[in-house]
Amino acid sequence: MSAVPVQGAVSNAAVARTVVIGGGIVGVCCALYLQRNGFAVTLVDPAAPGDSTAKWSCGQMAVSEIIPLSKPGILMKVPGWLMDQNGPLAMRPGALPGILPWFFRFMSCARQSKIVDIAQSLSSLTRNIYADYAPLLSECSDKALMGERPIIEVFNDSAYFEREQPHLELRASLGFKAQRLSPAEIGDLEPALKGRFAHGLLFPDWRSVGDTEGFVAALTESFLARGGRRIRSEARRIDEQGGRACGVTLGDGDAVAADHVVVAAGTGSRRFFDALGVRVPLEGIAGYQALLPDSGVEIRHSIIYADGGFCFTPMTRGLQIGGTIEIAGRGAQPNFRRAEIILEKARRILPQLRTDGVEFGVGYRPFLPDTKPIIDRSRRLENVVMAFGHGQLGLTLGATTGRLVADLVSARTPELNMTPFSAYRYA
Ligand SMILES: Cc1cc2nc3c(=O)[nH]c(=O)nc-3n(C[C@H](O)[C@H](O)[C@H](O)COP(=O)(O)OP(=O)(O)OC[C@H]3O[C@@H](n4cnc5c(N)ncnc54)[C@H](O)[C@@H]3O)c2cc1C
Repeated sequence: MSAVPVQGAVSNAAVARTVVIGGGIVGVCCALYLQRNGFAVTLVDPAAPGDSTAKWSCGQMAVSEIIPLSKPGILMKVPGWLMDQNGPLAMRPGALPGILPWFFRFMSCARQSKIVDIAQSLSSLTRNIYADYAPLLSECSDKALMGERPIIEVFNDSAYFEREQPHLELRASLGFKAQRLSPAEIGDLEPALKGRFAHGLLFPDWRSVGDTEGFVAALTESFLARGGRRIRSEARRIDEQGGRACGVTLGDGDAVAADHVVVAAGTGSRRFFDALGVRVPLEGIAGYQALLPDSGVEIRHSIIYADGGFCFTPMTRGLQIGGTIEIAGRGAQPNFRRAEIILEKARRILPQLRTDGVEFGVGYRPFLPDTKPIIDRSRRLENVVMAFGHGQLGLTLGATTGRLVADLVSARTPELNMTPFSAYRYA
C-alpha cells in the first residue's frame, strides 16, 4: 500500500479509470467533469487542495480579458522592462537567453490581425464560463463561492485610457460589455477611492471569487464527496504499454493504473512533454500579491488599477493587492520586493491601509506565447489529454476546460472549434 496520503474512496473498478495529474483549478475542474461523465477519477498532486497558483491570483472571472498580453509596439518596451526590475512589467536580464525563443513567438502575436484572431478564440471559451461553473458550484456546500459584484477598472493616465479604446471596441464586437465611469461614479461605487482616479470602466459581466484558496479547496471537497480519490504525491511519469498510457508512477514509485490520463499540472506539465510527444513553449510568468488580513479599508469590488498593473481584491481572508508581470526565468527565486512595491503604490492611493500581519505570495502563470491554453489529445499517447497553459485566465477557464476535456476523454467531438487550442500549433 502506498505511503502517500490518499483522500476519498476507491471507485468502482468496472468504470473507466482516469488519472488527472495536477489538482489546481484546471485539474480539479477536469476531475469533476470526468466524474460527471461516469469516470472513476484519481487526482494526483503533492500540494494541499487550494495551495496552487490560483491562491495568489486576483480571483477574477475575467470574461473579456481576451486581448493577448502581446500588444503592438511591444519590442520597444523591452529595454524598459530590463531596466526597471520593480515596474509593473519586468524581465530579469538573466532570464533573457532562456526566454528568447518564447519571446520571439510572443512578439509575433503583437500584429493586429493576430490579436483579433486570439481574442476571437479566447472569447469562444470565456463566453461559457458561468454555465460551465454552475453545476460544479451548485454541489459545493458554500453557495457563495462566486461573488455577485462586477469588476471595476480605474485609470489615472488619460493617454493610457485612450490607448485601451480599440481593445474595448474589439471586446464589444465580441459581445462583452464595458461601461464608462466618471470620477464621481467611481466614488459612488467605491467610496474609499473617491477623488483618486480620472477614468473608470465597469465590466458588468465579470465576477470575482472571495477566497481563491477556498474556491479550489471546496471544489476538491465536492470531488471527494462524490467518490473521487486524491493522492498527495507528485506524478513522476506516465506509464505506457502498447502505444497507450496505462497508468502513472508516483514519486514513491507506486503505480496507479489508468485507462485515460489527463495532464493538467500548470508549468509542471513540462515534465511530461516527451511522453506526450509535444514541444511547447510553456513558461511560468510570475505575479506577486500582498495579503492584508486587517487592511482597515473597505473595498467592495475587485478593482484593476490599470496604470499600476495590479488589482485590489476583497477576500474573506483579507484585502489582496497584487498582480504585475515578471519574466524571471526557470528556477529563479521570487523577488518579494515587487510585492512590497505594489504595497507602497497602493498606500499612495489608500494612505490609511494597515499592513500589520501582511503575507506575501507569488504565483507562476503557465503562459504560452499566444496567451491561449492547450486543450488537446496527445498524438503519441492517444488516451492522454492535455489541459495546461491557461496563463492569466486559469481561474476563469477552469470549468470550461474541464467540460471540454471530458468531451475529449469520452471521445465526443466538442461543440467548439478546438484548433486554436491545439498542442501542435507550435510544431
Ligand atoms: C498574480 C496573479 C493573478 C492572477 N489573476 C487571475 C485572475 O484574476 N483570473 C484568472 O482567471 N486567472 C488569474 N491568474 C492565473 C491563474 O491563477 C492561473 O492561470 C491558474 O491558477 C492556473 O491553473 P492550473 O490548474 O493550470 O495550474 P496550477 O494552479 O499551477 O496547478 C498545477 C498543479 O499541478 C501540480 N503539479 C505540478 N507538477 C506535478 C506533478 N509532476 N505531479 C502532480 N502534480 C503536479 C502543482 O502542485 C499544482 O497544484 C493569476 C495568476 C497570478 C500569478
